[in-house]
Amino acid sequence: MTQVRTRIAPSPTGDPHVGTAYIALFNRCFAHQHGGKFVLRIEDTDTQRSSKKSEQDILDALRWLGLTWDEGPGCEGECGPYRQSERTEIYKTHIQQLLANGTVFNCFCSAERLQQVRQRQMQEQQQTGYDGHCLKLTKEEITAKLDKRVDHVVRLKVPAEGECEFEDLLRGTVSIGWSQVDMQVLIKSDGRPTYHFANVVDDHLMQISHVIRGEEWINSTPKHLLLYQYFGWQEPVFCHMPLLRNPDKSKLSKRKNPTSIGYYQAMGYLPAALLNYLGMMGWTMPGGEEKFSLAEMTANFDITRVSLGGPVFDTKKLDWLNGKYIREDLDDAEFVKQFAQWAFNPEKLKRMVPLVKQRIERFSDVAALGGFFVSGVLELDAERFAHKNLDNATMLKLLQFSLWRLEQIDDWDRDDIEHGLQGLAESLQMKIRDFLYPLFVAISGQAVSTSVFDSIAILGIEMSRARLRHAMDVLGGISKKQAKVLEREFRKIC
Ligand code: GLU
Repeated sequence: MTQVRTRIAPSPTGDPHVGTAYIALFNRCFAHQHGGKFVLRIEDTDTQRSSKKSEQDILDALRWLGLTWDEGPGCEGECGPYRQSERTEIYKTHIQQLLANGTVFNCFCSAERLQQVRQRQMQEQQQTGYDGHCLKLTKEEITAKLDKRVDHVVRLKVPAEGECEFEDLLRGTVSIGWSQVDMQVLIKSDGRPTYHFANVVDDHLMQISHVIRGEEWINSTPKHLLLYQYFGWQEPVFCHMPLLRNPDKSKLSKRKNPTSIGYYQAMGYLPAALLNYLGMMGWTMPGGEEKFSLAEMTANFDITRVSLGGPVFDTKKLDWLNGKYIREDLDDAEFVKQFAQWAFNPEKLKRMVPLVKQRIERFSDVAALGGFFVSGVLELDAERFAHKNLDNATMLKLLQFSLWRLEQIDDWDRDDIEHGLQGLAESLQMKIRDFLYPLFVAISGQAVSTSVFDSIAILGIEMSRARLRHAMDVLGGISKKQAKVLEREFRKIC
């Protein structure tokens, strides 16, 4: 058998997600159990949404969890570069191959035309997708348009009828009608590849033997299989893992559960415990043990024992497991060491000290003022929020609007936060002092504290979100219906 090679292929478009770590863990275990290699590839073809910061955060988070890779950025192997933005030439030569053998085609349709086609399909309650218009162009017409440099994309040809069948390691035979499969854009008008094209070319060139990824990609697999066939390449084995779920069984989302690995780090979870917990998502040790290390999981791994019932990511269970790790795995000396590293993290302290220093007289004042920087969700009650000008409903609205406004900020920068929140206060025609009052209490637990903008910047979006949500709960919460009304109002001003 050829060497087993698996990969994790994150797109650097946001905070490092626990779902990425979960998929990485299962890929790593599978490869290492077979004496193979685990590859990390950065899928940054979406230049608008990708960022270097997000890439760095993802790499740091995976390293923090111990999910190191055998090949990838910082660990170059023979199949690099491992960042898609550095592989543009490779995609260019590969698309030429398919244009030459006629399995893909140039499409010159304008955005307006595509929009009209879509509207018509929706009105007629048909499956939406490209209607094949440019397939009818003659060779001469195509050449003339290319000579005139008319904007165009390259699309995949898809069989008109029949079914695509493929084997999934966990699901057996999966069958999807070709009528459900769109003539996917492979190369965009700026010459860059889309996810589908770059992903297949790279999986082949990086000799990936098993594609183990989330189930949200099942419907893309027919397109990928067509590409393997059109290139004349052997396809990898596919395995679609069940998605992580909130306790109410909906897809894990940051609206209901913190999803960023950074949040778990900031809350003081141990990486080994979080990793162990992710290993329990749909999988169990043969002996049913709940506490196990990465090495134990790898040694006992059997992918066919992954259960397809949606695994629930439940922070209560994680808390229990983390407590067990703290008690059983950290002797007092190790506790001191790890706690000090976490609480007195120099990076965080460096940002926090200037804020605290101006307001204290003795070191013994530090904990009372700045303790909220090293806490999780704060102990609060509704009375703490009492304010002469603001009633409960206004307070809830301000907290919710502030959270939505903060979520719109891409670069988590102090000045952007100040700008965003001040702008919101102006739109609401409120005095900034009144506007900020519930935020102070939610974020720091006190009506007066260090600058709330700086505090939010230092705590990060995940921890800030958790505190704002908790404050809203303490104030009685917002019903779904109220949230809809508020959202409409918010959209009008932001
Ligand atoms: N870049 C894709 C993602 O962000 C990778 C999907 C795949 O594994 O094929 O999830």
